[in-house]
Amino acid sequence: DTVREGRAEIFADKSNSVFFNKAQVNNRDLSIAVLRWFVLKRQEEHDAQLKGRRADIPPEQHADGLDPATTGSEDTALRKESSLKAPKVLEALAASGLRAIRYALEVDGIGEVIALDNNEVAIESCKRNIYHNGILASSKVVPHLADARIYMLTHPKEFDVVDLDPYGSPAAFLDSAVQCVADGGILMCSATDMAVLAGGNAEVCFSKYGSYPVRGKYRHEMALRILLACMESHAIRHKRYIVPVISVHMDFYIRVFVRIFTSASTVKSSPLKFSHVYQCVGCNSFHLQNVGRINSKDKRNIPLPNFCPTVPQECSECGGKFVMGGPIWSDPIHDRDWATSILSNIRATSGLYEAYAKISAILTSVSEELPNAPLFVSLHSICATLKCTNPTMVMFHSAIRNAGYQISGSHADPLALKTDAPMSVIWDIMRCWVKLHPVKSQPENLPGSRILSQEPQLQGIVLSSNWGFSCTEEPKIST
Ligand SMILES: [Zn+2]
Repeated sequence: DTVREGRAEIFADKSNSVFFNKAQVNNRDLSIAVLRWFVLKRQEEHDAQLKGRRADIPPEQHADGLDPATTGSEDTALRKESSLKAPKVLEALAASGLRAIRYALEVDGIGEVIALDNNEVAIESCKRNIYHNGILASSKVVPHLADARIYMLTHPKEFDVVDLDPYGSPAAFLDSAVQCVADGGILMCSATDMAVLAGGNAEVCFSKYGSYPVRGKYRHEMALRILLACMESHAIRHKRYIVPVISVHMDFYIRVFVRIFTSASTVKSSPLKFSHVYQCVGCNSFHLQNVGRINSKDKRNIPLPNFCPTVPQECSECGGKFVMGGPIWSDPIHDRDWATSILSNIRATSGLYEAYAKISAILTSVSEELPNAPLFVSLHSICATLKCTNPTMVMFHSAIRNAGYQISGSHADPLALKTDAPMSVIWDIMRCWVKLHPVKSQPENLPGSRILSQEPQLQGIVLSSNWGFSCTEEPKIST
């Protein structure tokens, strides 16, 4: 018996079924889409670098005597002499080998794919599957029995692509993985231990990832940011840093795609990319605080420990206490260019992806996310705190925009409101809403009652000019 996925076919017998997870087709399809774009992007960057170098050389000194600025000629001579090698892939926890085989068969321009596993049965199954998939698979995919950590440590900067897809936490592999990726290469990493990352066992998350999760509606995005923070903290030990290109929560796991570069000076600004999260236990308002701060007197831009705290002892909305989570990665978690390019690529070749509907929906969402607004509030959750009816998403979005801020959704939650507006503005908009849609009187000590006991400041802005009606009129929404 065999199972087909993409262009690969693997045996689905008893010995193999342990290593094959059908539910992960979304994960594998997305990884192939990212990898296809990475191969193109890497070539484009290489060509740009060559052109840049060529542009520095006077035209008369060019081997072909042509000025690229005026002729736009491909510099074949220079290109030949420094041609880019096909990217080498390490599938560090290969199991059945399905993923490695699919990379080899489906990603044009891909080089050798090393399929590692620490389990002899897995490697035997992997070998059979590679052989079964014919000459191309056999010529590209090399199965290898080894402990991934040792293999990655002993092959520093050797692989352009390193893929970590463990059952559970990748934490134990990160230190060696960040060292194994070539400069400008990509590390693709999944984590399925969502209970830990999303705040179920905060102390386990701290021991594995060095960060405290907070149980908010944003917990799946926070999980992504905890994993990214952990990857960065491993990378900077080795004078390297990460640049996330795509980070997603889907199904029951998270998956991040980060590029890795080496630069001692960039590593110094790493504290600016980490933040602690203060979350109110009463109303779930959250506030971020950077670990580092820019010292304006220092021309080298080396950050100092930040002044703190950024929140008062008690929440200024509801009087609740704050818990402190993190540190999390608070820089962007996606590269918008990558997201839109990958999206248009898969739209043009939708037939190649079994999971097309799923991955195109996720990438659409990802490409629309506000890059500089970590975490989000949920419309349901803020209305539950106030015990009021929900305004529509459209109304809330336009109120935020009208108050002068940006807003988007999040791929991690259909009810997410991701915005750069401070919590005080979000609550103020809701106070305006409740003025129009009054709630039953509640005991005074509830967070919602305390929030509503304050008069809204933004009433004029939010109501009259934005929702198309004033306080005395019936609500009517113009589209
Ligand atoms: Zn509060």
